[in-house]
Amino acid sequence: MHPFSYTKVSTTREALNAGRSGGRYIAGGTTLVDLMRETVERPDTLVDISGLPLRGITVTGRGGLRIGALVRMAEAAADSKVRTTFPVISQALELSASAQLRNMATIGGNIMQRTRCAYFRDVTAACNKREPGSGCAALKGVNRTHAILGTSGDCVATHPSDAAVAFAALEARVHVLGSDGRERSIGFADFLLRPGSTPHREQAIHRGELITAVEIPVHPRPLVSGYLKVRDRQSYEFALTSAAVALHVRGGVIREARVAAGGVGTVPWKLSAVERHLIGERPSEALWTAAAARAADGARPLEHNRFKVDLLKRTVERQLRIVGGSR
Ligand code: SF4
Repeated sequence: MHPFSYTKVSTTREALNAGRSGGRYIAGGTTLVDLMRETVERPDTLVDISGLPLRGITVTGRGGLRIGALVRMAEAAADSKVRTTFPVISQALELSASAQLRNMATIGGNIMQRTRCAYFRDVTAACNKREPGSGCAALKGVNRTHAILGTSGDCVATHPSDAAVAFAALEARVHVLGSDGRERSIGFADFLLRPGSTPHREQAIHRGELITAVEIPVHPRPLVSGYLKVRDRQSYEFALTSAAVALHVRGGVIREARVAAGGVGTVPWKLSAVERHLIGERPSEALWTAAAARAADGARPLEHNRFKVDLLKRTVERQLRIVGGSR
């Protein structure tokens, strides 16, 4: 492991000062320490922010939620406000990682986690994300678990977070504190970056900025929602495909639809075509099938992951049926 210094901060001001000087923030450490062991990440300074007051879950406005960046995944999943208002978030968190990891990992760390592409973690392999300009071993390698949406000729890795799929569906905003002490918020669709020609740039935040919270906006009530994850084994595994669905039905008509997919995109993939197909329609079996048929629009499968095109459609159709009901 590359030698590093460690400092623990107790105020956001101390954190920002250390971050501005090049320190890397660490809280749960469940991703970063692994990557440091494998020498994929080699920070000179770790700044432990686990003592900062960024832990609360609060109701905003008329029913939105603000989840502090240092809330543990397990705490957020179990929180009664999250469970009753946005069960899609609870379910996504509960289907993530292992119980031990969920007890350590934070919401901020979860959305910042790095890809599980095996070549990224193998320092002998070509990887533009780890070493810009070195190539992408996955393009001609084993790419069964890689992305079919949002890819580029430089990177085809998926984003691994389940919670981020729920946040993308619900159009959450990420609050960050800049080195000048000002807070700004970034829409989730803009927070995680598609690889393009710069796959090493993964989030729309600047050096030293500190994530303070994820905010879920107010949605009309009632909102029914849920998360479905399809994977090779039923525990401690990343998604081959997943679907986060939230529907507002009033007077027998779908007034609002929020749908996103995981395991298939280089970022959590908002399924806007599916949403448009649902809004204004009456729930029915035929509607779920027709809407889900749009889920893989624009997909560009690789040699080993063509199966994801149909699997994605079936995952979305099934979750629409679970959330919207069989009719
Ligand atoms: Fe690296 Fe991305 Fe290629 Fe994986 S898919 S080897 S992360 S550049």
